[in-house]
Amino acid sequence: MSDKAFRKLNIFLSIFCLAITLVSLISFNTLMNKSYVITPDKYPTRVNTDRDHDGGTVGSLHKSEDGIELQCDFERTYSLPFCEIEFVISTQGKGLDLSTYDSVTINMDYQGQEDPRFRFYIRNYDKNYSVKGDAMSNKFNRLDFSLPDKNHIDLNYFNVPFWWIDHYNQPITSSAVDITNAVSVELGLGASTLDGHHSIKISSIVFHGKIISKALLGELLIGLWVTYAICYVGCALHIAQRSRTRAAEQQRYFTEEIEELKVKATTDPLTGCRNRTEALDTFYDFEWLAQQGKTIHIALFDLDHFKQINDQHGHEVGDKVLIQFVATANESLGEQYLLYRWGGEEFLLVCLEQTALQCNESIDNFYLAMDQSLWPKALKVTTSTGVTQLKEHESIRTAIKRADKALYQAKDNGRNQVVTFY
Ligand code: GH3
Ligand code: MG
Ligand code: MG
Repeated sequence: MSDKAFRKLNIFLSIFCLAITLVSLISFNTLMNKSYVITPDKYPTRVNTDRDHDGGTVGSLHKSEDGIELQCDFERTYSLPFCEIEFVISTQGKGLDLSTYDSVTINMDYQGQEDPRFRFYIRNYDKNYSVKGDAMSNKFNRLDFSLPDKNHIDLNYFNVPFWWIDHYNQPITSSAVDITNAVSVELGLGASTLDGHHSIKISSIVFHGKIISKALLGELLIGLWVTYAICYVGCALHIAQRSRTRAAEQQRYFTEEIEELKVKATTDPLTGCRNRTEALDTFYDFEWLAQQGKTIHIALFDLDHFKQINDQHGHEVGDKVLIQFVATANESLGEQYLLYRWGGEEFLLVCLEQTALQCNESIDNFYLAMDQSLWPKALKVTTSTGVTQLKEHESIRTAIKRADKALYQAKDNGRNQVVTFY
């Protein structure tokens, strides 16, 4: 991925995450609602009264215009009289999970006494405490409310009555509200109800909740941003690593280029021999060595009648002769001898730390090698040579001039020979 593509992707992802965050936060209260409606048509209903405890309250159910009507005639002969309607969700223990709802609205009308107290139960089935054949063993999750509360009853305020925990001898772990498997919902009047006739018309009981809980939404959004951050850091590290690799590759490339240019700048392209520029660059080193008392000899070669070779056999043959001259010199002379192409068919040889005798012997060997070499067109190629020693405090140019004079002497003497001037 290019840096530009990464920047674009980063902008896109950050806008995407921001949009998701804003939309979910804004729409949480309006768009993420869910509800579950319990109506008398949907589930069977029945009446529970204190008659089961030999009380005198009479309850009955009647169909009404938009639901069902519970009529209760209270007679306080039992100490805790009650009269309730029960919506039976399941008799098989397979109920509704109401724990994902937050509140309930009870759409009802009441007629009877002033300021009545209603009781509302959500009965839960759990095989850990529910006993087959004993409907009372289904956990009572209870809330008492008065009429103004009926439109919004918060499910957080439910509790489990002490008598149920006590009666079924439940451990502390079973004493909390549990509405994960509600098998019935009950609504009615309890012990505070006055004697007389009471009527409750119920059209529906509506549970309200969120499609997704606030905590889960928070976790999902945190997860989204953490994923984004991980992707961002991962991509940034990858790009940084790639930039480092590229920079290193470029550095290597430039170093190689510089080396190549250096070689090009200091090498004669025809013969591969060091060129005049390289010679001029290293003069100071030789002068310094001579000043340190090291023996430095200089030899100037000039090929004999080279013009004739060009003229008679062509420039290309001349070139081949120059190449072979350098190759023969390099093979014959050791590491102490540095050969430079000084110009046209002239070559400069610098002999490092060699006595005059060693230097002459080496040049003689080179002459022998030239003599034995098979030259293009079976030519006989010879060279004249002027040799001198670089004195301790003279410039190398002065020494070269002296070698040049010796070279002219060699030419004058008839060529193909070495003349040494001191
Ligand atoms: P002498 O024995 O007196 O040195 O005679 P010479 O013919 O060698 O001397 P001269 O200086 O007259 O000729 C040198 C020739 O070398 C002239 C030039 O054309 C040729 N030359 C210089 N550089 C090159 C080159 O790179 N290739 C070829 N083929 N010829 C070259
Ligand atoms: Mg010449
Ligand atoms: Mg020549």
